Formats: sequence, C-alpha cells, structure tokens
Amino acid sequence: MGTTLRVIEIFESLQGEGHWTGTPMTFVRLAGCNAPALGLECVSWCDTRESWDAESGVEMGVAAIINQVYLPRLCLTGGEPLLQIEGVRELMAAAHGRGLRVHLETNGTVDPQVVTGSPAASPCAGSPLFSESDWVVVSPKPPSYFIASGWMGEVSELKLIADERLDTATAERLAAEHPAALVCIQPEYKMGRRSVDKTVEMVRSHPDWRFSFQMHKFLGIR
Ligand code: SF4
Repeated sequence: MGTTLRVIEIFESLQGEGHWTGTPMTFVRLAGCNAPALGLECVSWCDTRESWDAESGVEMGVAAIINQVYLPRLCLTGGEPLLQIEGVRELMAAAHGRGLRVHLETNGTVDPQVVTGSPAASPCAGSPLFSESDWVVVSPKPPSYFIASGWMGEVSELKLIADERLDTATAERLAAEHPAALVCIQPEYKMGRRSVDKTVEMVRSHPDWRFSFQMHKFLGIR
C-alpha cells in the first residue's frame, strides 16, 4: 500500500483566485498547517481554519483520491500541502498518469528541496515535486513573507494578501526575487474597503500585476 494522505475535503468548483480564475478544477484540501506554530499573522484572517489540525479529515490512499477527480485540473491546497510531501508527490505522479494537470498552493515556508532530499548543489534540478507540478502558487505570509530557497525559479504565481502588514516595498522585493512569477494581489476582506483600495492602488501602479478578488466568494460558491 502506498503513502496515504489526511484529506479535509474533495470538491469540484471554479478556481476563484489568481491567473486561473473561472477555470473548473477539483480541489483536494489537505490537513495540517504550520502557520500557527510559526506565528504567521494569516491566522487572524484565515478562511480555512478547519484544515489546521494535521489529524483532522480522513486518511485516504492516492488511488481513492484520484478516483474522485472528474475534471482535467486538480488543485492541491490546504492547510499547507507540503507537510504531507511524500503523499503529495505520489498523488501528483498518479494524477499525471491519468493525464490531469496539477496545481499546487503553498505558503512557501517548507523547502521542497529539503523534504524531497534533492542535492543542495543543484537546488532546483530534477525535483520530483517540481517536475510534476503544472502551476505553483506561493502565498508568503506576514510578518516575514518568508519563501524557502528551494522555491527559487519555480513559482508560477505569487499571491499576496493586502492586509494591514503588506506594503509595496515588500511586494516589489518578492516580485524581484521571483521574476518569472505572475504577481496577484488580493484584498483581505475583513479589513473592508481599505484593503480593496490598497489592492487597486498597488496594481494600478504596477501594470504587470493583477487584482485577485476571490470570485467564488462573490458568487457564493465553494
Ligand atoms: S497558511 Fe493558509 S491555511 Fe495556514 S493559516 Fe495561513 S492562510 Fe490559513
């Protein structure tokens, strides 16, 4: 029997955020998040608190998960999916074996090169994780906005939440460190209109960036 994963939920919806907004995907939400232990400030506005406990959800094998995916794109999200890296790698390989595209959403704190054991001398070459991810969304969190070095050169999309902490200098620094990534700025809705205005202003002054507005919440869907 292969590696199992703790799964909070599997559901079909439209991607509500970032570059792929509006695209049908099957979402697999994995259990466990390291943000509370790391003291990350996103815990105050997180909308997936049910995913924090690594023991929550149900234990599922890779085949059982794949059998519930009926759409061409699978989005692995959390929580922090890389806390279950071995299962994630197996799931990605199995998904590709079925011809699926795999999107991965991470907070960037876990270095995939460390957990996959890739040689430090070639930090991004040949990693099973990267070779099996079709779109990597890294959403670094305040106060440090730390992204582990193993993600360098591998980020498809940088998702930044315009909360009280985020400032333009931080967003510009992260964009410069990941030049190939699409930068998406997203309001923090508990902050209300001020966050929307802040997001609009940041994007208007950086025409290559995008406004991400969590379409699924606007539509009242999952
Ligand atoms: S990293 Fe994501 S899932 Fe974890 S607390 Fe922050 S926003 Fe929530």
